[in-house]
Amino acid sequence: SKKHKVAIVGSGNWGTTIAKVVAESVAEHPELFEETVQMWVYEEQYQIPKDSKHHDPGSEVSTKPQKLTELINGLHENVKYLPGIPLPHNIVANPDAGDTVRDATILIFNLPHQFIGRVCDGLKGKIVPYARGISCIKGVEVSDKGCELFSDSIGEKLGIYCGALSGANIATEVALEKWSETTVAYDPPSMDSKHPTPHETPTGSPRGSSLNLTALSGHATGEIISPKGKKTKLLALPSEYPPLTHANVKKLFHRPYFHVRMVSDVAGVSLGGALKNIVAVAAGFVEGLGWGNNAKAAVMRVGILEEVKFGKMFFASSVKTETFTEESCGVADLITTCSGGRNFRCAKMSIEEKKPIGEIEERELNGQKLQGTSTAYEVNEFLAKQGLEGEFPLFTAVWSILEGKHKPEDIPALIEREGSG
Ligand code: NAD
Ligand code: 13P
Repeated sequence: SKKHKVAIVGSGNWGTTIAKVVAESVAEHPELFEETVQMWVYEEQYQIPKDSKHHDPGSEVSTKPQKLTELINGLHENVKYLPGIPLPHNIVANPDAGDTVRDATILIFNLPHQFIGRVCDGLKGKIVPYARGISCIKGVEVSDKGCELFSDSIGEKLGIYCGALSGANIATEVALEKWSETTVAYDPPSMDSKHPTPHETPTGSPRGSSLNLTALSGHATGEIISPKGKKTKLLALPSEYPPLTHANVKKLFHRPYFHVRMVSDVAGVSLGGALKNIVAVAAGFVEGLGWGNNAKAAVMRVGILEEVKFGKMFFASSVKTETFTEESCGVADLITTCSGGRNFRCAKMSIEEKKPIGEIEERELNGQKLQGTSTAYEVNEFLAKQGLEGEFPLFTAVWSILEGKHKPEDIPALIEREGSG
């Protein structure tokens, strides 16, 4: 029987951390997965800084900018986006996205949300048609079509099923193997399994997508219908591969320091990760004013209510409230992000220093990207089109402060006026 080949699309702070997690797991489960993990790197030139342990004044590698892929493959470290963390040697950094995904049956998408559309367009026709995806991206895609989850838009673009991984997971902590939990939502049509009941879903609740099978023998084909009613033709995973049950998907991500809980609510998992980034910006704003923990807790209280309300209002067929209240991808992610995430830290500094948050991002993050500011704009565009800004006063307040229409000091009045909670 065949083994799954795993490829990671993306190699930033979280992309590289997940590549490390997955590379360790595949080495531990040779019965399921091939050992080499290809990781796509958006190629750039990078010069090793003087304070890096890899800096050697006598060597050309240290004195001239080098290709990031060559540095990663030579040093087994992503010196730019995850410095100081040794990477397993079975990770191969690859600058060619098409070559990275060649023959891979499991594709893990992990890059800042603003880049995924273009990258997926470039992958069309280059992937195995029966591949399965997991999106680790925290963001939503807003367009004329409305508000879409990346798991859905990746699936539609590439004609594959795509689940989601999200949790209270500040990348550096996971990379340092400090204990964390995460949530993986994976709920493909049951045609993928050799067995009639593939899922180990704790609740057995219905999924957002429904399936119409058109042929069940040989290469079974099917169709998933997204919560938005879009149809995607699917090819079943050939039976020579180990079935991607919850138990097997869990084996790909679960580490002694990274505990995975499997669920079926892909929309809830994706939305928790995306929307908490807006709340983190609000938490940074009040912290930047020098307000206390009570203020931050108030922002988080309203934030989780708006997350659930957004899910229930726009993804009613699939989202479960418990995903936000009980899983790592919900309230736990909100707490960790508002304690020490990049969105929180940069928003705080922008208020303290009275500088635009984009300028702080540029100065502080060495090429890493904030997701909360763009998500605040995208969600606002979506809500404003429907005249629903008033239903989400905290999300709207963050946009309005970023736009300079209000001050962070206005947050209490803005959320009270709209009667949230
Ligand atoms: P990052 O913030 O480190 O961003 C840098 C990455 O963007 C690099 O790999 C860089 O090559 C890439 N990039 C820059 N310009 C590009 C372009 N034009 N096209 C394609 N790629 C380009 O990224 P990250 O931390 O890996 O975040 C990926 C996703 O994971 C985000 O949605 C984020 O919210 C989420 N996430 C991040 C963390 C974290 O702590 N970093 C934790 C959990 C989830
Ligand atoms: P930031 O992008 O704000 O650092 O958040 C990281 C994260 O998603 C933690 O779960």
